[in-house]
Amino acid sequence: MSLEGKIALVTGGSRGIGRAICIRLASMGCLVYINYVSRSAAAEETQQIIQQAGGKAEIIGFDVADGNAVQDACKKIITEAGSIDVLVNNAGITRDGLMARMKESEWDEVINTNLKGAFLCAKAASRAMMKKKWGRIINISSVSGVAGNPGQVNYSAAKAGLIGLTKSMAREYASRNITVNSVAPGYIETEMTNLLDEKTQQQIKAEIPLAAFGRTEDIAGAVAYLASEDGRYLTGQTLHVNGGMYM
Ligand code: NDP
Repeated sequence: MSLEGKIALVTGGSRGIGRAICIRLASMGCLVYINYVSRSAAAEETQQIIQQAGGKAEIIGFDVADGNAVQDACKKIITEAGSIDVLVNNAGITRDGLMARMKESEWDEVINTNLKGAFLCAKAASRAMMKKKWGRIINISSVSGVAGNPGQVNYSAAKAGLIGLTKSMAREYASRNITVNSVAPGYIETEMTNLLDEKTQQQIKAEIPLAAFGRTEDIAGAVAYLASEDGRYLTGQTLHVNGGMYM
């Protein structure tokens, strides 16, 4: 699966799932723009891993929830590199808590980063894709967005929203040869899941048919497939990469 010469932007590419996606897309020949919001050192580490393996990567820090920052960043990439061919909307945060105690600010932060951020990045990046008549947009949703999860009304709503965004965008952009798909991970070993205590982790694993958390590379593999020529006939779909947790 080659993506030689393509330009990719991965939001939240500094660590976790985003890092694995950056590494995988770079290994397929993409010049990868690694986005982060606060941890520049983590983004530099991702860049070093890619460069040491002979790949190409640049770093671009911006907040996906800030419309002006997103526009400036996408313009910069298009000026420097010529286009954005593959956009992976991966940046995401959690502000968990039961609905009765959830603050309005916790709702807003999660919706703004996880859902509005994807809309802003897709809108800015798709202009270049339309000109080229080729593009891949991949939104990282979550099992929480399809199955629901107590303590995550904000996160589930944002992740379900991403699936609606994916389907409507897929219909709007298909005539320009731009595919838009989602990947909905189950529980994946990252800093996000490390926040769960041991007992909760064991309880969750008992509910997963494959009886383990996934690896970041499992998600990167699904993204690679959707971005590649092998994935050319999929659009508006959600790949559920969750060990069978939700069917
Ligand atoms: P991490 O918490 O490990 O990493 C989050 C990434 O998002 C970091 O690179 C962070 O940048 C970036 N980020 C956060 N807020 C912003 C922002 N406003 N603008 C730009 N970048 C931002 O997350 P994971 O790797 O675990 O998750 C990645 C995606 O996968 C998320 O969308 C998450 O919801 C989803 N997901 C994860 C699951 C899991 O089990 N881990 C399960 C299902 C879905 P910085 O380093 O600068 O802070």
